Amino acid sequence: MDLQTLIESWNGFAVVTHFDAPTGTWIFIALHDRTLGRPTGGTRIRRYESPAEGLNDAMHLATGMTHKWAAADLPYGGGKAVLAVPGPIQGEARESLLHRYGELVESLKGGFATGEDLGTTPRDMATIAETTQYVIGASQGQMTDPGPFTARGVFAALRSAVRAAYGDDELTGRPILVQGLGDVGAPLARHLVDAGARVLLSDTDEQRQDKLAAELGSEGEESADGRLEIVPPAEVYDTPCDVFAPCAVGFVLSDQTIPRLQCRVVTGSANNQLASPEAADLLHQRGILYAPDYIANGGGAIAFGMMEQGVDDREILFARIDKIGDALDEIFEEAADRDESPVRAALRRVERILEREGNG
Ligand code: NAD
Repeated sequence: MDLQTLIESWNGFAVVTHFDAPTGTWIFIALHDRTLGRPTGGTRIRRYESPAEGLNDAMHLATGMTHKWAAADLPYGGGKAVLAVPGPIQGEARESLLHRYGELVESLKGGFATGEDLGTTPRDMATIAETTQYVIGASQGQMTDPGPFTARGVFAALRSAVRAAYGDDELTGRPILVQGLGDVGAPLARHLVDAGARVLLSDTDEQRQDKLAAELGSEGEESADGRLEIVPPAEVYDTPCDVFAPCAVGFVLSDQTIPRLQCRVVTGSANNQLASPEAADLLHQRGILYAPDYIANGGGAIAFGMMEQGVDDREILFARIDKIGDALDEIFEEAADRDESPVRAALRRVERILEREGNG
C-alpha cells in the first residue's frame, strides 16, 4: 500500500497533504464528502508504521464522519485530519507544529473544520485555534469535553438495543460490561449505575478503574454497592453479560473475539469496532444485536455540530442526542424485518439521506 494507490482507490473528494519538515510529521486532511456541508471531523495525532498507514486511517475516518453526520441528519460533510508523527512531540516543538497545522487548515478557507480526537487534547485544540478560526468546540479559549455528550448518546443507543433485544429497556439488574473507562466509558458507567444496572468495569489502567469503582461504589448502598464488578481485560470477551459496551479501542469485534462473546447486545463508543465487514454478519449469525458504532457514538459530534449553529442550551442538546435511540429503533426494526445485520440497514439510511440532499 502506497500513497498513490491509496489516493487512486479512494472515493472521497480530496486529500490535502503536507510534510512538516521541522518535526518530520506527515499531515493528511482527508475530505470525503461535501453533500451535506463543510467536511468536519477531528484531528488525530499518532505514530504510524508508514505515512501511507496514516493516510489510510484519515481516509477511513473521514468516510466514517460522512456516515456519522448523515445518520444524525446534521449539515456537515465527512472529513478528518491525521498528523502522523515520528514519535512523541512535546513542548515548544508541539506548539509550533500545531500552529503550522492551524495555518494549513486556515489556508483551506473554510473547506474543513476540526475538533479533538485521539492523541489531541483540549489544550492542543486551543493552540490550533490560535492560527485558524476553523476549530469547533472552542469558546473563549476553552474547549468543551465531548465525552459526556458521547456517553449520553451511547446510553440512548444502549437502551434502544436492549428494547429491540429484550422487548423493554428496563436496565435494573442487567449485567452490562463497559470496556474502557475514559472520557466516555466513565460517564456511561455513571448513567448505567443510576439506571440500576449491574455494571462490570474493565480498563487496562488499574488506577483509573479502581478510582471509578470507588466513586460509583460509594454513592450509597441503594445505588451501586454489590452491583459493581471488576473484570480483568483478558477476560472481557469471555464474561457473561447482557450488554457489552466497547469504549476503549477499535477492531475489538473480530472472528477471534465474536465466537467467545457471551452477550445479547453490543453497543459502545469505540470507533471502528468491527475488525472486518464480515464481523457484522458474524454477530448477526450469533444472534448478537450490534448498534453501528458511528450512530451509537454520535452524541459528541451532534452536540458540537449544534453548538456551532448557536445552540447552547444543554436540555436541547440532550434531547437531540437522545434521538440516537429513535434512529436506532427504526434501524433495528428494518434489520429485523429483513433478517440482516443493523449495519446494512444503517448504511441504507445514510445513503437515503445523502441522496435526498444530493438531489435537493
Ligand atoms: P480515553 O482515552 O479517554 O479512554 C479510553 C480508556 O480505555 C482509557 O482509560 C484506557 O486505559 C482504556 N483502554 C485502552 N485499551 C484498553 C483495553 N484493551 N481494554 C480496556 N481498556 C482499555 O478515550 P475516550 O475519549 O473515552 O474514547 C473511547 C473510545 O470512544 C475511542 O475509541 C474513541 O475513538 C471513541 N469515541 C470517543 C468520543 C469522545 O467524545 N471522546 C466520541 C466518539 C468516539
